[in-house]
Amino acid sequence: MSVFENLDNHEQVVFCNDPNSGLKAIIAIHNTQLGQALGGSRFHDYTSEADALTDALRLSKGMTYKAAVAGLNLGGGKSVIIGNPKKLASEALFRAFGRFINSLNGRYITAEDVGTSVEHMEWIRHETNHVVGVSKHIGGSGDPSPVTAHGTFVGIQAAVKQTKNTDSLAGIKVAVEGIGHVGYHLCKELHDSGAKLYVSDVNEAATKAVATEFGATVVPCDQLHGLDVDVYAPCALGATINDKTIPQFKCSIIAGAANNQLKEETKHAAELEKLGILYAPDFVINAGGLINVYSELEGSGKERAWEKTENIYDTLLKIFALANRENITTAEAANKLAEQRIKSVSLTRNIHSTR
Ligand code: NAD
Repeated sequence: MSVFENLDNHEQVVFCNDPNSGLKAIIAIHNTQLGQALGGSRFHDYTSEADALTDALRLSKGMTYKAAVAGLNLGGGKSVIIGNPKKLASEALFRAFGRFINSLNGRYITAEDVGTSVEHMEWIRHETNHVVGVSKHIGGSGDPSPVTAHGTFVGIQAAVKQTKNTDSLAGIKVAVEGIGHVGYHLCKELHDSGAKLYVSDVNEAATKAVATEFGATVVPCDQLHGLDVDVYAPCALGATINDKTIPQFKCSIIAGAANNQLKEETKHAAELEKLGILYAPDFVINAGGLINVYSELEGSGKERAWEKTENIYDTLLKIFALANRENITTAEAANKLAEQRIKSVSLTRNIHSTR
């Protein structure tokens, strides 16, 4: 069996096994050139251990790129806990996991992700300080969603600037998919700036609230992608840019907070490009949440996180310019920018270490 061949340049992969609590987890550290690897713990009932490993490797690499482009001094890591969280989550399990994280001496810092909660992070915190996203009363940064929404909002502004050469969103039609934690705050900012909102969610109560508060037009979920709007803002699930939705799009911009929006990154980014739809790469536009937890590590506070998040506007304009200059997709340009930053920092490190 070849183990290293499948690691795709990851620095370290740790398998955590605690039969007493039922913990089976994998911590993947992709790259620590820019700093400690940070990324959430996903708790999921994977169909196989191989699937869990693949997910940990894929997600941790994504975190390296997200932190690099956001200009943070953080590396990329992620962990997955295998099993059904509803059946398995317990203080004993998370404390056992916390001890494994602690044994890495800060090379990996965890946070909340799909299937884990603030309470789970606080159990981990009993065993290690290398955890962020705990509640405000014990020094945490609280809900990251308003910061993520603000980054998405300035990202939409950058895309509108690029395509229409204006900073104003007055009268711009935006279709927001998913009115959850991020979607709600995004709708508020868009409404305040004069944009016209179209919204869909499987949860009727969520769309009703934004219809009442912000005058949004509620659209059935299966009709949102084909709307004649300027911007489609995916803020629900991943992979909503795919073979089925692309032929329906009438928008000129796709800019939203969801993770992994392109079902097949290379193919679907190229198809959007061909159709003249400007795509704001997901890991660039949705970095506000990561910037928020980074402020918790730095102890620099909410205001600084908010300011740093506004840099997403300039970063996206830089990515759009790079894509135009080199005739590559915006997704490729974002990856290139991340890789350039990691490379330049590792070169500086190597120069220092040879002195
Ligand atoms: P959330 O769970 O609060 O909201 C998601 C919303 O999408 C829910 O209201 C849900 O009912 C709705 N939804 C689910 N399936 C749908 C469908 N098929 N069509 C329309 N709506 C549907 O999640 P969130 O925290 O708002 O995050 C939204 C997205 O942004 C996720 O993809 C998440 O990974 C990503 N993201 C969030 C943050 C953050 O700070 N919360 C940071 C980075 C990325």
